[in-house]
Amino acid sequence: MKQFNYSRAVDASNAVQIVSASRETKFLAGGTNLIDLMKEGVENPSTLVDIARLNLKQIKNAGGGISIGALAKNTDTANHPLIRQNYPLLTQAILAGASQQIRNMATNGGNLLQRTRCPYFYEVAMPCNKREPGTGCGALEGINRMHAIFGWSEKCVAVYPSDMSIALAALDAVVKVQGANGQERNIPFIDFHRLPGNNPEKDTNLNHGELITAIELPKNNFANKSYYLKVRDRASYAFALVSVAAGLEMDGSRIKQARVAMGGVAHKPWRATETEKFLIGKTADETNFKQAAEAEMRQAKPLEHNEFKVELGRRAIVHALQKAMNGGAT
Ligand SMILES: Cc1cc2nc3c(=O)[nH]c(=O)nc-3n(C[C@H](O)[C@H](O)[C@H](O)COP(=O)(O)OP(=O)(O)OC[C@H]3O[C@@H](n4cnc5c(N)ncnc54)[C@H](O)[C@@H]3O)c2cc1C
Ligand code: SF4
Repeated sequence: MKQFNYSRAVDASNAVQIVSASRETKFLAGGTNLIDLMKEGVENPSTLVDIARLNLKQIKNAGGGISIGALAKNTDTANHPLIRQNYPLLTQAILAGASQQIRNMATNGGNLLQRTRCPYFYEVAMPCNKREPGTGCGALEGINRMHAIFGWSEKCVAVYPSDMSIALAALDAVVKVQGANGQERNIPFIDFHRLPGNNPEKDTNLNHGELITAIELPKNNFANKSYYLKVRDRASYAFALVSVAAGLEMDGSRIKQARVAMGGVAHKPWRATETEKFLIGKTADETNFKQAAEAEMRQAKPLEHNEFKVELGRRAIVHALQKAMNGGAT
């Protein structure tokens, strides 16, 4: 591993100031992703600024919804009574990820910014436009079983790995960030991560040096009818082949609002807007769920080795909606 300088930030402004000053400097939170990438030589910062002890850990009621500190641990977030009671979809999604030990270290901000698990990205001897722009994409015509079926470009076909973020996308979260000179801005979750386009090296719309301070969730009426389904190769320690976060709000026997987001299918959390649109005003039955899933999945563009994800995605949407309808949340 390349040698690096380590310092501990005294407060958020101090952290932003140091990291903004050099593109070679990065924030260090739980370190469960960044340190792995440094060991592999994928990330090579010259300085790490430790933010893990900053006072950004609170989970509290705010403006009718909830504010979740960027440095609260994934475990503490999943198990917090306000989250369990009002956003069980988020609890399920967090607990579907990684392992207990990793969730105890991992922070919410770090979870959002974890990088792709594309094996070519991790293997520094292989071409990868995300790791080294202009070198090509090893996965495009390589082994792309785990890769994208929506929104990919010739430059990159990677998928985004976070489970937590798929629930946050369905829940219309907002990411609060602090930049240089104390400037703050709010980024709607769906605009936070990017599709690869011509610049797959950029995962998000954050500027260098901007610190995530909190994630805000608006009030919703999905708590009793929501479900996170993760389909993976083995039951633990595996990233999603396909995942679905689903929430339904009913008006009598008809669907008033639907939220469906997918993981494992694109370079960012994928909001299944065609599914959502189809469901409004319909009865919540299997026929409608199947048609709603088809409306989304007919737009999929699979690669050579991942055509199976289209049928898997269809079935996963139907199953997640059925579980949500039956109050499948914890
Ligand atoms: C074996 C293994 C299995 C895993 N399985 C899963 C899984 O199934 N599902 C899943 O979702 N995740 C999984 N993960 C990923 C894990 O959830 C992430 O590694 C973790 O959430 C990252 O959080 P962290 O605090 O450790 O981030 P770090 O590693 O400290 O940081 C990650 C990135 O975020 C930046 N950063 C951190 N905090 C901030 C902030 N507040 N503002 C701005 N930038 C910031 C850092 O500079 C760095 O670039 C797995 C990880 C491992 C090691
Ligand atoms: S899919 Fe993206 S991350 Fe994977 S090799 Fe291609 S450019 Fe790199």
